[in-house]
Amino acid sequence: MAKTRNTAEKPLGAKCPMCKGYMLRVDECSPNPIYVRGDTGEKRYERIPFGQETRIDTSRLGERCPDCGCKRGHYHHEGCDIEECPICHRQMLSCSCEFYWYDDEVKKYTSRQARGN
Ligand SMILES: [Zn+2]
Ligand SMILES: [Zn+2]
Ligand SMILES: [Zn+2]
Repeated sequence: MAKTRNTAEKPLGAKCPMCKGYMLRVDECSPNPIYVRGDTGEKRYERIPFGQETRIDTSRLGERCPDCGCKRGHYHHEGCDIEECPICHRQMLSCSCEFYWYDDEVKKYTSRQARGN
């Protein structure tokens, strides 16, 4: 789990692969819902906004997510430490769910591969 964040070099934050915004400047992520392909076909999940996590208490974290910078009540950016996976309810950053979403920039569906560490 060696994930480097060059926050000093990139004050805008990393570019979010879902909404294409810079994480620390964009108030919320856009692509929602996400989809999972399974044996019974496609299943749709709504992402979990900042403040509605069940695995951790975020009530004292302030009005912006300390990791991705989204506003409370809005969607985290993909790759955020805090975002809870709506599929497995673990930390989305480190869970192994494979899901996909509609990428508005390239006008097609794109998927997140399970992150191997
Ligand atoms: Zn985003
Ligand atoms: Zn976040
Ligand atoms: Zn998951």
